[in-house]
Amino acid sequence: MKNTGTDQNVFKTERSSHFFDRAQRVIPGGVNSPVRAFKNVNRHPVFIKRGNGSRIWDEDHNEYIDYVGSWGPLLMGHAHPAVVDAVTEAASKGLSFGAATQGEVLLAEQVVANVPGVESLRLVNSGTEAVMSAIRLARGFTGRERIVKFTGCYHGHSDGLLVAAGSGLMTQGVPDSAGVPAAFTELTVPANYNDAEGIKALFEKIGDTIAAVIIEPVAANMGVCPPAEGFLQLLRELTSKHGALLIFDEVITGFRLSFGGAQAYFDVPADLVTYGKIIGGGMPMGAYGGRKDIMSEVSPVGAVYQAGTLSGNPLAVAAGRAMLDLLLGDSSLYDRLEQKGAYLEKGFREAAAEVGVPVQLNRVGSLMSIFFTSDPVTDYASAQSSNTDQYATYFNAMLEQGIYIAPSQFEALFVGAYHSMAQLEYTVDCSRRAFAQVAAQG
Ligand SMILES: *Cc1c(COP(=O)(O)O)cnc(C)c1O
Repeated sequence: MKNTGTDQNVFKTERSSHFFDRAQRVIPGGVNSPVRAFKNVNRHPVFIKRGNGSRIWDEDHNEYIDYVGSWGPLLMGHAHPAVVDAVTEAASKGLSFGAATQGEVLLAEQVVANVPGVESLRLVNSGTEAVMSAIRLARGFTGRERIVKFTGCYHGHSDGLLVAAGSGLMTQGVPDSAGVPAAFTELTVPANYNDAEGIKALFEKIGDTIAAVIIEPVAANMGVCPPAEGFLQLLRELTSKHGALLIFDEVITGFRLSFGGAQAYFDVPADLVTYGKIIGGGMPMGAYGGRKDIMSEVSPVGAVYQAGTLSGNPLAVAAGRAMLDLLLGDSSLYDRLEQKGAYLEKGFREAAAEVGVPVQLNRVGSLMSIFFTSDPVTDYASAQSSNTDQYATYFNAMLEQGIYIAPSQFEALFVGAYHSMAQLEYTVDCSRRAFAQVAAQG
């Protein structure tokens, strides 16, 4: 298979470096979101020029098989013709009206008809906004103020949720962000992921003051960390019993684990769900939805205010609808994603074992992480035990062979519908060489 360096099969970085130098002069750290700076893998970022299906190309014409997929939205691949056509057509009719449009109705109908538990849906512009709004709604609906969140789960960058929030924050070793007043996070109560006894004790103590428990039903922002057997069910029971709401942050898992997301996959209904990433088909969009009686508290019906000039933007809606159509029209999609995920998991596991590198492979469907540790990764603390230097070596070895994975240990590897079996096989071959480099480094 042809791979890196479309021109000469040599990995080059001149142009990316050039743009990074310029970027650093005019953009903080040269990037518009921290993980893109590649700081955690000790190199300068590559600047991406274009993508098609499973592949992306950078400014130096290096070609990669992409396992990031813009952090999840591109489940069906880059520049999918159905999505691009939908956006192009919408664009020709006007970019924004700030008024009601038919497309918004069709999109909401698509979701409400196919996702159990979502009876009403409000569109916003990002996952961050979706979560922020859902939290406000939960507080407005219950008349309570406390929110429980799990350490290592990321729910966007709004003030109240930047508490032990995983991902970028985790690798910077910053437990919290500067600029967030302590008073803003006082009502955010951290709990340990997968710690059944801990959450029971917490509810015993303050259960009747909790507005909502929010969770990534499969944590994917401390690396992938699946929920322990019965854990989500326990949260369902505790919240119901104490009159608190259960919010699933399905910004990553929504439409990825199944069309009905984690709610359907684990058969645990949430009261509110937040979406982002896939629902925008690659355009900036998020959404929150759930029980009708709760959603009826949202303005202009109810007293919980939430608005947006560009919310329900026609281009984003067109992309989202085209994307959801693709998913709904492909009856074997989720089975194929599971098979591809399982194939890679097995391949990585064997490749690491061959050269004696201890790893933990955590996977749910098409979401996966390789942790460089011999201990099981079940929560934030165990995720942190991973050897990030080894991850950096692995990442660089993969990148230079034309495999683009997350430039951070604490993110997911995203398998897409578009990865061919030949590409997966090739990826495992590359992985074998990358693990060997890790082994050689000791
Ligand atoms: C990406 C992400 C968010 C934030 O979404 P943005 O669109 O980046 O604001 C929130 N929650 C989870 C689980 C995410 O993965």
